[in-house]
Amino acid sequence: MSGLLIVTGASSGIGAATARNAAFNGWSRIVVHYNSDQAGAEETAGVIESMGAQAYLFRADLAKPKAIAQMFKPLRDLKSGRIGLMNNAGVVAPKAGIADLTPERVSDIFAVNVLGAIEVARQSVSLMREWGKGGAIVNVSSVAARLGSGNLFVDYAASKGAIDSFTLGLADELAPEGIRVNAIRPGLIDTDIHAKGGYPDRLAEIGHTPPLGRPGRADEVAETALWLLSERASYITRSLIDVSGGR
Ligand code: NAP
Repeated sequence: MSGLLIVTGASSGIGAATARNAAFNGWSRIVVHYNSDQAGAEETAGVIESMGAQAYLFRADLAKPKAIAQMFKPLRDLKSGRIGLMNNAGVVAPKAGIADLTPERVSDIFAVNVLGAIEVARQSVSLMREWGKGGAIVNVSSVAARLGSGNLFVDYAASKGAIDSFTLGLADELAPEGIRVNAIRPGLIDTDIHAKGGYPDRLAEIGHTPPLGRPGRADEVAETALWLLSERASYITRSLIDVSGGR
């Protein structure tokens, strides 16, 4: 299918894998969003263009609503039909119990994972309505939303719980317009997020614990997302899909 796929956090991990594999799934134009990792975003864009699709690089700190608005302004001129949103960018924070969850820390997590994701969805829906060709949204949650992640990062888990609720309500709201909204809940996936969150050995320590006996790959999450974003998943909305090896 042709159209515009917007991938937030496409400079690394799950977002990069989704953006890289999007052209194989028929997306002709792919927005490669990043925040600090310009080299990673350029690498993603290079792979997209080597497959004959068009990549658009945008930098925006999703904790800043004005930066999100700035990113969407030029997108309005790219009129290209159906729109997909992989609402993926997210952060985790170091392992901590409740005593160490300062308001600043919790606020930083929610600013990106919840407020940023909701604002990105709001802007994308506005674009979908303007272009009139419909679309699909995949919000990236986490199995943490149902596990709770006690003694690890309950604030992160709560931010993903918010994404689950947001997904259910937004799916109800947009179904009459033919816009499908789903969430993916990855389990332990081999990306840099663990090291960035101060826990580089996480997968070495517990990567074997899911029933499938290994951590997942970013490509495995991307595959599920691209399926949900495509018309192959035309009767699926309001679903929270675990990609977690059974965890
Ligand atoms: P990752 O490799 O660290 O990628 C995170 C992406 O989010 C990067 O592209 C990063 O951009 C972007 N990002 C972070 N803070 C941002 C900000 N303030 N503004 C804009 N973009 C920002 O992590 P990942 O594992 O692929 O994670 C992707 C999503 O999957 C996240 O929502 C995460 O919570 C979720 N998830 C991951 C796992 C896992 O085990 N890996 C499990 C469950 C859920 P820059 O690098 O350019 O700054």
